Amino acid sequence: MRTLSRREFLKLCAVSTAGVSLGSLLGWDFVFNTFARAAEGRPTVVWLQGSACSGCSVSLLNSVDPPVADLILKLTGLKYHPLLMAAAGEMGVDLLEEVARKERGNFVLVVEGGIPTAERGRYCLIGEQHGQAVTMLDAVRILGNAALVTVAAGQCASFGGIPGAAPNPTGVVGVDRVLADRPVINLGLCPMHPDHFLGTVVHLLNYGLPELDELKRPKMFYPGPIHENCPRRPDFEAGRFASSIGEEGCLARLGCKGFIARADCGNQGWNHGVNWCIKAGAPCMACSEPYFPDHTGPFYGLFTVSRTRSEARPSS
Ligand code: SF4
Ligand code: SF4
Repeated sequence: MRTLSRREFLKLCAVSTAGVSLGSLLGWDFVFNTFARAAEGRPTVVWLQGSACSGCSVSLLNSVDPPVADLILKLTGLKYHPLLMAAAGEMGVDLLEEVARKERGNFVLVVEGGIPTAERGRYCLIGEQHGQAVTMLDAVRILGNAALVTVAAGQCASFGGIPGAAPNPTGVVGVDRVLADRPVINLGLCPMHPDHFLGTVVHLLNYGLPELDELKRPKMFYPGPIHENCPRRPDFEAGRFASSIGEEGCLARLGCKGFIARADCGNQGWNHGVNWCIKAGAPCMACSEPYFPDHTGPFYGLFTVSRTRSEARPSS
């Protein structure tokens, strides 16, 4: 059976290129064996959905190669996923309670979507038990405190995302704000990249918690600003700027935030590496960052970066 050292694994994650899936780079036997071992008693997976559009689930299930959906559905003990499971109603909620009780410290919690906290979480109910509403906030607290680790899948679960945008009447926050003293991994893109999920789970199962940046994102997938390796960087240096969508040239004057967006979108590409925002002519909106979308607007207007990342604001 093929094995990889952690160093080899990280190297392969870093060299991922558009059109070559992470699974192909790692070797399918390695990936399948990892998940097969998981199916034999290693951590099982519980997937909750809060304030979200289901885009992160769709992103994962749509992946062509690797067949991530196959891996997740057939080889892990995916015990709960509101879109995919057969159980419904109280039966579903009972299942969650059973996992929290019987598998304490031995399962991975995946959270998709933000968590409404206003009115004690009553803006997002995931079901009922014994006639009582169970909120997403309750579920994340109970399961997050019992899980080995929680993966915040996508921008909304990581940082609040669009459901948490101003004025945010439902008080949506990211998982980290609810589980401040628990291990949380943020996969903050909108939507989550399927290879990021696959790579994170494979890392967890083989080597434990991946190295995280100060925003709890795996460094292997959030290496540095997109601007650093952008294919339009020579245009930026030469002062060739596109003045309308579809033109050649750097997209800075059309609102590109590649300066402040830390992610490997340019290496990995999207939709099996077919394309990604900047290659398609669309400015980066910095959906990887905690201040998306409130402070990364206007999406299509000139943007200036102030001294610190947290103070990034659009120019007037
Ligand atoms: S398109 Fe965006 S990321 Fe690329 S060089 Fe221009 S500003 Fe930087
Ligand atoms: S290029 Fe920018 S807007 Fe597009 S997915 Fe990556 S971080 Fe988000």
